[in-house]
Amino acid sequence: METATFNTSDAEKFGTGLRGPLLRPGDDGYDSARTIWNAMIDKRPALIARCAGVSDVIQSVNFARESGLLVSVRGGGHNVSGNAISDGGLMIDLSPMKSVHVDPDRCIARAEPGVLWREFDHETQAFGLATTGGLVSTTGVAGLTLGGGIGWLMGSHGLACDNLLSVDVVTADGRLLTASESRNQDLFWGLRGGGGNFGIATSFEFQLHPVGQLLGGMVIHPLDQAVELIRFCDEFTRTAPAELGSLVVFVTSPEGERVVAIAVCYNGPVEEGERVLKPLREFGTPLADVVAPMSYTQVQGMLDEGFPPGLQNYWKSNFLSGLDDTAIEIIVEHVRNAPSPNSAVAIEQLGGAVSRVGKDDTAFNHRDARYNLLIVGMWPDSSANDENINWVRELSDAMEPYSSGGVYVNYLGQEADEGPERIKAAYGPEKYERLVALKNRYDPTNLFRLNQNIRPTAD
Ligand SMILES: Cc1cc2nc3c(=O)[nH]c(=O)nc-3n(C[C@H](O)[C@H](O)[C@H](O)COP(=O)(O)OP(=O)(O)OC[C@H]3O[C@@H](n4cnc5c(N)ncnc54)[C@H](O)[C@@H]3O)c2cc1C
Repeated sequence: METATFNTSDAEKFGTGLRGPLLRPGDDGYDSARTIWNAMIDKRPALIARCAGVSDVIQSVNFARESGLLVSVRGGGHNVSGNAISDGGLMIDLSPMKSVHVDPDRCIARAEPGVLWREFDHETQAFGLATTGGLVSTTGVAGLTLGGGIGWLMGSHGLACDNLLSVDVVTADGRLLTASESRNQDLFWGLRGGGGNFGIATSFEFQLHPVGQLLGGMVIHPLDQAVELIRFCDEFTRTAPAELGSLVVFVTSPEGERVVAIAVCYNGPVEEGERVLKPLREFGTPLADVVAPMSYTQVQGMLDEGFPPGLQNYWKSNFLSGLDDTAIEIIVEHVRNAPSPNSAVAIEQLGGAVSRVGKDDTAFNHRDARYNLLIVGMWPDSSANDENINWVRELSDAMEPYSSGGVYVNYLGQEADEGPERIKAAYGPEKYERLVALKNRYDPTNLFRLNQNIRPTAD
């Protein structure tokens, strides 16, 4: 399938039938359309369909199926593995589909698949509403939600996918289906954590919640206080209200110092947040405390600067079974020796409403996990790839004894690098089998093969 060629006049006809442009190598806009967040991905599709709406998506799916072209699907373009794009295939580019419609009376928003979280929040916050998005505002609503969706509000409202009311999907045979609790329920189950395996989502309907001024920011400590700080935070967050979202992040300060920070968001009244966060803010001797009342959109953007587009990226992650002093010391030691100041290590904390959703209710499979370790290798110069990739791999290997064996699908790398067993680790054997059955039903020929790779039985 990867090497399929297509008839030029068929492609011509396909292009004239679209409302958005069909781009070929050399066309204006081709290079910017094939540029995604991770600069390590430098691929050249044969065709890029810049979809203006659902009709363009349906026609693109039909053309790909009939011509045998390899399909890739681009939402926000943030996935580090770069599956949004291929060499020689058809990229179905949803990024021009930007509409967000908010119904403030019913607390519901409907977003098209090219919307980024900062755009979604901009619209919903006009009415004092929000739903769980990511921890960084530049990520796409589509990919993040289909894989689960870890974000600041998850303690109060669950993952992004837990807030879905319905999803419209174009399936491999070119039909448009609506999946919800009452329609195509099996598909709805799979779309909540199962990724882009079953079709192209063209509309996401979300439950919104009132979210006003809240307390957010970071408390930053020297790296040599990491063990005491994380031990304290581990205890502190066990009893903290679910409204507190927190994240431990090892980064390099603008002055070039390696530091450890606790980033927080208290989703409740500011005075209540001040009371809840007091022990955390009084712990030890921080280098800085930049926790302050802020809007939800400010919280969503507070880590953005640390994740600029256009750098080389290689990431690894694992849910953790535990986090003792030795584990923290391993991380500290590796962070001290990180070859790039852009690299970071995050310990994301789950819990709260995430763990209150029934284990079998959605394809997302790590409801009981307390921590997810994310090792972010990020550097500017491709000549330093080997050194930086090795640093990520070495830390990941050293942390293997603390891994629960599970992995978050949205942080998975390329299958060739991760190995085929890792996708099963993302779902566990039972859910994986259920997802294969769904794949057999909705995409038996594996048209949507460039995603998180649930394979149909016949492939
Ligand atoms: C800087 C950064 C911060 C991040 N922060 C978080 C975070 O806080 N929480 C979190 O949970 N994740 C986070 N992620 C991971 C993120 O959720 C995934 O990378 C996700 O896949 C990004 O979605 P996208 O639409 O931007 O990406 P894309 O690369 O466009 O899409 C990723 C994949 O999703 C599929 N896909 C996209 N759109 C559709 C669609 N409409 N229909 C069907 N399939 C589709 C495709 O298979 C595609 O390959 C982060 C990633 C980055 C780079």
